[in-house]
Amino acid sequence: MRYLRPRSIEEASAALACGARALAGGTDLLVRLGRMVDWPPALVDLKGIDALKGIRPLAPGENGAPGDDEIAPAAGGGELPTGGLRLGALVTLAELKALPELAAWPALAAACRGFAARQIRNRATLGGNLANASPAADTVPVLAAYGARCLTDRRALPVEKLATGPGQTSLAPGEIITALELPAPAAGARSFFFKLAPREAMAIAVVSVAGCLEMEGPVVRRARLVLGSVAPTVIRAREAEAALAGRRLTPEVAREAAAVAAGAARPIDDLRARAGYRRTMVGRIVAYELSRLAREYAHS
Ligand SMILES: Cc1cc2nc3c(=O)[nH]c(=O)nc-3n(C[C@H](O)[C@H](O)[C@H](O)COP(=O)(O)OP(=O)(O)OC[C@H]3O[C@@H](n4cnc5c(N)ncnc54)[C@H](O)[C@@H]3O)c2cc1C
Repeated sequence: MRYLRPRSIEEASAALACGARALAGGTDLLVRLGRMVDWPPALVDLKGIDALKGIRPLAPGENGAPGDDEIAPAAGGGELPTGGLRLGALVTLAELKALPELAAWPALAAACRGFAARQIRNRATLGGNLANASPAADTVPVLAAYGARCLTDRRALPVEKLATGPGQTSLAPGEIITALELPAPAAGARSFFFKLAPREAMAIAVVSVAGCLEMEGPVVRRARLVLGSVAPTVIRAREAEAALAGRRLTPEVAREAAAVAAGAARPIDDLRARAGYRRTMVGRIVAYELSRLAREYAHS
């Protein structure tokens, strides 16, 4: 197997189009290579490509024209207002965790804190977390809850649309994830990430739930609820989102949305948990997080 270290996206893309595999931090790929029977003809180390690195503010208009599904830019209230960020595909979890601006996206900060351990965070990249297409990937539900987009050298798409099944993506041969666009927090946004796992560190999520609610006082203007580890890919609980939109957030509404979210889960039995347990826990987690928020608005 050859090892290539190109300096440009074009060079890397040409090598990948011929059957080579992209290598970023290697925390998924190198583990998997040990089990592979057919090794790829080459590994294309992306770490020599400067265009895939770094974190910078999104330039005006860079996060695209707001569509139906996009959240409005922050106008204050809720979490700290700040502009959006462009996160290079090679940004590591450690770099992201250390970013002071991350306080404006508390659910993403929580996902970084609960991600593996320091040694893995120092290597693991955001692009690799997405491209690995695990339904248990920690950053994917959170980025989806914030309406982030994945940029490749050819197109832009919502992060939750990249994976098509466990370990499968819609990336074409030679297509490279170049960056992620994290929009500015929505006006009055409240967000959370709950990772249910057997331990606090070095554990894969048995169930994860990320949510971002755009609040107008106690009323939910718009919600995104995203579930991990309960379907072949990370999924949006769209009916539960609809059950929240336009309603005052009360404990009853929270329980109703939680039951709908549990119904959206399509888990399987595996070594880590039974399907029924996973579905039940989706409902419990959504109910817990939404009720916690509802209590904050109880007297307004
Ligand atoms: C001990 C341990 C603990 C872990 N804990 C967690 C955890 O808590 N949460 C979690 O979510 N994950 C966890 N992981 C999984 C892994 O660390 C992450 O998925 C990580 O983000 C992968 O990034 P990477 O840069 O190492 O990817 P790599 O291993 O380099 O690549 C992964 C896949 O993505 C492809 N790829 C990488 N970059 C690109 C790109 N820019 N464009 C196109 N394709 C690309 C590669 O070809 C490969 O198929 C853990 C792994 C280990 C070994």
